[in-house]
Amino acid sequence: MDTSYPNTQLFINGKWKDADAGENIDVINPAYESVIGKMAHARKADLDEALEAADKAFFKWKNVNSFERYKILQKAAKILRDRSNDIARIMTIEHGKPFGESLAEVNLSADITDWLGEEARRSYGRLIPSRSSDVYQMVVKEPVGPVAGFSPWNFPINQAVRKIGGAVAAGCSIIIKGPEETPASCAELVRAYADAGVPEGVINLVFGIPSEISEYLIPHPVIRKISFTGSTAVGKLLASMAGLHMKLVTMELGGHAPAIIFDDANVDNAVQMIANNKYRNAGQVCVSPTRFLVHESLYDKFVDGFVKISESQVVGDGLDPNTTMGPLAHDRRLDAMEMFVSDAVDKGAKVKTGGKRKGNKGYFFEPTVLTDVPTDAKMMNEEPFGPLAPITPFKNFDDVVKEANRLPYGLAAFAFTNSAKTAEKITSSIESGIVSVNQPWMPVVEVPFGGVKDSGYGKELGSEGLEAYLQSKFITQKSSI
Ligand code: NAD
Repeated sequence: MDTSYPNTQLFINGKWKDADAGENIDVINPAYESVIGKMAHARKADLDEALEAADKAFFKWKNVNSFERYKILQKAAKILRDRSNDIARIMTIEHGKPFGESLAEVNLSADITDWLGEEARRSYGRLIPSRSSDVYQMVVKEPVGPVAGFSPWNFPINQAVRKIGGAVAAGCSIIIKGPEETPASCAELVRAYADAGVPEGVINLVFGIPSEISEYLIPHPVIRKISFTGSTAVGKLLASMAGLHMKLVTMELGGHAPAIIFDDANVDNAVQMIANNKYRNAGQVCVSPTRFLVHESLYDKFVDGFVKISESQVVGDGLDPNTTMGPLAHDRRLDAMEMFVSDAVDKGAKVKTGGKRKGNKGYFFEPTVLTDVPTDAKMMNEEPFGPLAPITPFKNFDDVVKEANRLPYGLAAFAFTNSAKTAEKITSSIESGIVSVNQPWMPVVEVPFGGVKDSGYGKELGSEGLEAYLQSKFITQKSSI
C-alpha cells in the first residue's frame, strides 16, 4: 500500500495556506516513531484572519436556505465516500488504527454529513396559540453564529465532522482546531466540504498550541459557541472560560464505562462482544468499556474468555491487513498505560495477560487483562484510554450499581442479561448518557451521543446534533395597529 503522507496547511477564508509566521509542527507515525510530515502552526495573526473570515461568512451563510445547505452537504458526503480509501490510508499512517477501522470512520463521517444536511431541512419552529385572535406567536430557529470547535486525535475525522457538519448544516461558520497528532485526515474532511461548495470563510481549519488557540478564540467577541471533545480536565477549563464570556457550550468529555455481566447472561456471547469492542481503536475511545463487573458465578469463565480473545489480537502496523489493533496514537498514552499498570500491580492487582509495551519501536502496548484491581487503583478512577481491561467480580445488583455509579463520569455503560426485568432495572439505575444492553454499542448517526455528570453536557448526532448550533427566537406580531 502507498505509504506517502501529505503535509498539512491551514485552511482560512477558502484558501490552503502556510502559517503567517512560517512555523510548522512535525507529524509522527506512531507505528514507527518516524517524522512523516509537518503541519502549519497557527499563531495570533492566523487566528485573526480566521475570525474575520468566519465573521463575514456567517452573515452570508445564515441566509442560504436549508435546502441549498442540504445539497452541499450531500455532495460533501459523496466526495468523502469517493475518496474514502485514500483518506483512510492517511488516517492509519498518522494515527495507527487498522485500515478497516479508518475506512469505517470515513464512511461514518459521510453518513453523519448526510444526516446533518437532512436534519437542516427539518429544523422546524413552532406556532403558539395566542390569547388574542389578531396576534401571532411563533418560535423560529436561528444559527447561533461563528463557532470555535476543538476536536481530538482519537477519531481524527469522526469527532471533527460532528462539529463542522452540525455548524455548517445549521447555517453557522466555524473555526475548527484540528488534532495536531492527526492533522492530514482531518484536513481531507475539510477539503471534501470545500470541494462540495461550502463558501469561503464558513469552515476554517487551524492547528497549533491548543491552550494558546482556546484562550484566544473563546473570549473573542466574534465567537458565539464553543464545542469541545477531549478530557474532562481540559473540558472544565474551557467550559469555565466560556461561562465567563457567556458563550454557548457543548462538552463531550471523558468516560469510564462499566460493563456489567449479570448471572443470567450468556457469558460466551458477552465476552466475545465486549472483549473485541475493548480493543477497537486500541481502547482510545471515550465510550470504551473500562470497568468489567462480572457476577461471581461467571467470573472465572469470563476472565478466561477475555484473556483468550486478548491474546488473539494481532498488534501491529495498521496498514498490515492482518493487524487487529494498532499502536497507541502518541507517546503520552504509552507512558499512561505503563503508569496505570505499575500503579495497579503495586496495589495488589494481577496481570493475567499483557501489561507492557510491545517491542521498543512504535507506541505499541499489549492487550492487557487484570484481576484483583483494588478500587483505589488509578485505572479504576481515571479514564484509562487504552487497551486495559480490569475485571472485578460482584455479588448482587445493589453492589454493582453502586460501583457503576461511583465515579463522577457518566458517558456510556454496558449490561448483559437475559432478564427483561434486570435490563429495565439497570437501564433506569445507571447514571450515564448512553446505556447499551446485550450489545457492544457503536455510535450511529440517528441517535444522540453525549454524557452526564463530569462526562459533559450537550449532545452530538441525532436531531440534537443540529439543535446544538441553533437558538430559539420568539416573535410575536399583531396583524395591524
Ligand atoms: P489532553 O487532555 O492534553 O488533550 C485532549 C484533547 O484536548 C486534545 O485534542 C488536545 O488538543 C485538546 N486540548 C488540550 N488542552 C487544550 C486547551 N487548553 N484548549 C483546547 N484544547 C485542548 O490529553 P491527551 O494526552 O491528548 O489525551 C489524553 C486524554 O484525553 C485521555 O485520557 C482522554 O481522557 C482524553 N480524550 C478524550 C477524548 C474523547 O473522545 N472524549 C478524545 C481524546 C482524548
